[in-house]
Amino acid sequence: MSENLTDIPELVPALNIAIAGNPNTGKSSLFNRLTGLRQRVGNYPGVTVEKKMGILHLGGRDLNLVDLPGTFSLSAASLDEAVVVEYLLGSLKGQQKPDLVVCVVDSTALVRSLFLAAQIADLGLPMVLALNMWDEARGQGLHLDAKLLSQRLGVVCVPTSAKTGEGVDELRGAISEALAQGLRMKPPMWPEAVDEATRVLREALHDGALPDPVLRRILFDSSATLAAHLGIKEDLRRNAVALARKKLFDSGFNPAACEAMLHYRDLRARTRGVDRSRGAGDETCAERGTGRRGPRHTESIDRLLLHRGWGLLVFVGVMYLVFQAVYSWATPFMAATEWVVGRMHDAAWALLEGYPVVQSMVSDGVIGGIGACLIFLPQILILFMFISMLEDSGYLPRAAFLMDKMFSWCGLSGKSFVPMLSSYACAVPGIMATRTITDPKARIATIMVAPLMSCSARLPIYVLFIGLFVQPRYGSFYAGLMLFAMHMIGLLIAGPVAFVFTRVILRSKPQPFFLELPPYRVPRLSDVLIRMLERGKVFLRTAGSVIFAMTIIIWALLYFPRPTDLPARVESGFAADYASAGGTSAEAVDAALRAGDAKTVHALDHAVASAYIEQSYLGRVGRFIQPVFAPAGFDWKLSVSIVSSFPAREVVLSTIGVIYRQGDKVDENSAALRKSMEADRWSGGPKDGKPVYTLPMVIALMVFFALCQQCMATVAAIVREAGWGWAVFSFVYMTALAWAGAVAVYQLGSIM
Ligand code: GDP
Ligand code: MG
Repeated sequence: MSENLTDIPELVPALNIAIAGNPNTGKSSLFNRLTGLRQRVGNYPGVTVEKKMGILHLGGRDLNLVDLPGTFSLSAASLDEAVVVEYLLGSLKGQQKPDLVVCVVDSTALVRSLFLAAQIADLGLPMVLALNMWDEARGQGLHLDAKLLSQRLGVVCVPTSAKTGEGVDELRGAISEALAQGLRMKPPMWPEAVDEATRVLREALHDGALPDPVLRRILFDSSATLAAHLGIKEDLRRNAVALARKKLFDSGFNPAACEAMLHYRDLRARTRGVDRSRGAGDETCAERGTGRRGPRHTESIDRLLLHRGWGLLVFVGVMYLVFQAVYSWATPFMAATEWVVGRMHDAAWALLEGYPVVQSMVSDGVIGGIGACLIFLPQILILFMFISMLEDSGYLPRAAFLMDKMFSWCGLSGKSFVPMLSSYACAVPGIMATRTITDPKARIATIMVAPLMSCSARLPIYVLFIGLFVQPRYGSFYAGLMLFAMHMIGLLIAGPVAFVFTRVILRSKPQPFFLELPPYRVPRLSDVLIRMLERGKVFLRTAGSVIFAMTIIIWALLYFPRPTDLPARVESGFAADYASAGGTSAEAVDAALRAGDAKTVHALDHAVASAYIEQSYLGRVGRFIQPVFAPAGFDWKLSVSIVSSFPAREVVLSTIGVIYRQGDKVDENSAALRKSMEADRWSGGPKDGKPVYTLPMVIALMVFFALCQQCMATVAAIVREAGWGWAVFSFVYMTALAWAGAVAVYQLGSIM
């Protein structure tokens, strides 16, 4: 086999090659081996499934390689699977049929993983088979005759190990060869009854143009997605399929099982004698192949990790370590990011001296916006490094299995676990991770509750307020407890909320939970790193662009209008105010100002900045809306901060900073900010002279941030994944929940 593509007509633009296979057979690892870093992630047009593409250099040409989502069969149940079927049929918008499918099978479970290959073969696509996990098969004493299998199936079968790299060059050669010769796997011989039923279906659908493979998919699959995609009306499909299935039934076939039965019968025959292992009888390969022969250590590890008591203990331990690492490892990177962005801010500020509007827009708006998205990157990368490692090692599906029991009462399944875990870093990747959930109602419910998980943008807010009011008065123990409570509150509320969604609003029936438990493996570092970078890029593209845009809008709403006489007006009243607060005379303050006393000048600058905010568009909205937040004990300044943080909750810190006259370079540790907040008093009204910041109010504020949907990036992600309706709904219900929670906490706290 040589990498020789001369037989392929030069005019063909770029050939498309798809990698297909069951989950966990090593598709992505092989994809990484074949493309290296020449890959990018996009979306399939019109659907929300992620598309991983890469470039494969082969014989001096660049070929497009696509890593399809893992599927066990083509009977599309989840969004992912539907995409695979439509991709292979070439019925996705703007998408050609692939020119070749590299079907990745697990050598340790040959017959079972050949089932998908047989289904793909039936579509008539040229194919190469990668017998992956060859190293593992060898380790188990399994010896398969790849030559014989190639003969029997009519396509090249290449033993590979994505882990060691063995066979990858041969696979490249086989790809060239198959492209040149268009080798196809021999499809099974369909019995007369199936052909008959297909004919009936074609007639009933009144569409003579539908090819047989498509008709067979419509006939065998329980889901209606493909037919809907082809523009066939649901009524028509249901009646036609019923008619055709009756035909099958009358000929003695069980319509639901006949495809699998026929394929397996065929595959058993064709793999007979392929297993050359010592002691392997004539048929053992087939018999063994239908069940996984996991390595022996997997079983004993599972006895511990899936144990009711120990398993949960290990799970809690692992999660604790992950979160510990996410928060502590990210700290230096976040500090470094902040430092760099701070320097950029100052440099831009100095550079644009003399152009106040541009100066503020570039430094506070643009650079602030870049900083606001970059700051979350370290935590997201670290979390995804762990998720990739846990997934590749095989632990994540076990964790999902353990969580299944905890989730099932509220209508979710273990499949919701990964999306919810991801949401602890950021709801955007969490929401995107829901696409593996097969049950559409459980998927919607998961999308609805994922933003309740305490994402990393909420952390600085907790740290600020706990540090300000809990730590100094009640000590570190209660401060830590409070921080933990803030992280739990969303999770605890998510259960009942999901219950309402699945059982009351969507009325879904409990679904059985099937999960593939792959054997334990040591993750490969390069695969983990590639995935981590890929996640980072997706985050920056989806969340980043929204956060960035919103920060600039917020900047504008806080900056304008800009009356030029405002500084003078503030200055005229300043001396008297400052004197009465500081216990000196107005004349002394005036003298200090004239003498250029740094502290006094600074105070005047802040008074001006604060006055600008108060009369800015956003400030006016905040004052207008304050009565709504009054039952939760928030004054107008907090109302402004809350309103400004609806696009992106992290904006609240800089708003609070500006309002409390510290300039907007405030972080959650600023001591001066704490002091001026503590000193803040209500003026006028029934609470005149009382402190604004009381413990019930602070807790109410944190509860509000914990439960509220203050993130337009999340809203945008929900629009993409579930549509506008659900996005609006999610925003409204979370805002209502947050308000009710804050009011309840404040009112209860005030009584106690
Ligand atoms: P995918 O779900 O098909 O994309 O599978 P992945 O590429 O994510 O691989 C699943 C797991 O199998 C990872 O832990 C890989 O490191 C591991 N893996 C992939 N290929 C091989 C192989 O040929 N041999 C062994 N021993 N492990 C492999
Ligand atoms: Mg994969």
